[in-house]
Amino acid sequence: MTEQAADSAVVSGDLVVRAVLRTDVGLVRSENQDFGSYTTPTEERQSHPGGRLMIVADGMGGHRGGATASRLAAETVKAQYLGSETTDIAAALRDALSRANARIFSEAQANPELRGMGTTTSALAVRAGEGWFAHVGDSRIYRVRNDEIKQLTEDHSLVASMVREGLITPKEAETHPRRNVLQRSMGVAEDVEIDVQGPFDLQEGDTFILCSDGLHGLVKEPELKDVAKLDIDQAADEFVRLALTRGAPDNVTVIVARVERGKSEDVVDEASKLEETQELDAAQFDETVRDEKTEPVPALAASVDGDQTLKVAALSIEPPPPPAETTKTLEVSAPKPKKSGFATKLVVIVVVLIAAAGAWFYWAH
Ligand code: CA
Repeated sequence: MTEQAADSAVVSGDLVVRAVLRTDVGLVRSENQDFGSYTTPTEERQSHPGGRLMIVADGMGGHRGGATASRLAAETVKAQYLGSETTDIAAALRDALSRANARIFSEAQANPELRGMGTTTSALAVRAGEGWFAHVGDSRIYRVRNDEIKQLTEDHSLVASMVREGLITPKEAETHPRRNVLQRSMGVAEDVEIDVQGPFDLQEGDTFILCSDGLHGLVKEPELKDVAKLDIDQAADEFVRLALTRGAPDNVTVIVARVERGKSEDVVDEASKLEETQELDAAQFDETVRDEKTEPVPALAASVDGDQTLKVAALSIEPPPPPAETTKTLEVSAPKPKKSGFATKLVVIVVVLIAAAGAWFYWAH
């Protein structure tokens, strides 16, 4: 795994994307219902679509519904995308969101505590110098290029449609009492209309910001653009810090991703660390899926380019929600070996065999 990473990393000079993820419960909410995720180098190499997939989801619904919906959305979109049979990224993204919608809806139908849960989902895929996105809801994907910021996604919110119809101004939308009303979200109906765009060209230096409304509600475009010029780690930290200093009434989640020319030398250690962490984390996720009442699962973050060339990776965790804390880092504890279970089984098998042999010997003589 790591050796493959090292081999492919030797290819340099291609456009690669580095990304970091931060999520924070904010200062008012008791639970983080946002979820962010992105694919790791090994996952990307083993998939048909390839490339890097980044996802931000912002859940809604009580009794853990919101947190469940956003986690199901991010994890299902990622799994479906990686397992897709096609190399057509637009088709893979559309199918992945469609299946995630159906999965959240059926979970909600099956579990009264989760009924009515829903989530936004904004997913950006980057491969070989091109980008695609799929989107439902009011989380956003921005692109910062040179000194311009552009919101790539369209908000599926009531106030956004009122602005489009000329009924209110964008400024009025920011403080409108119904600004949280969504017109489209994932998981609330059997089907959902999904916005898909791409491929669009990438340029070296492009920076993408994927974020929930806990960030874009407090930090507006001019400031987003300026902060996005920092190193991506610093930018992501600064976004969370700005939200917190402004009261952070909502959960804050952001992925900052930058398109760069590939450099091989700083890649291998980070990539291999990430892969090890990912394996442990995947095991934890399987357990929590079966039990709705467990704490939120750590969100994964990684980065790689669109051409299988590894780049620096960063990790962050979706924490159980202690209030007023800033970005978390992932603490990985080694999984407990399952040798004791195996040893017990072995002893039982040996005892049974000895007993059977004894019985046969006794009976035969
Ligand atoms: Ca939110």
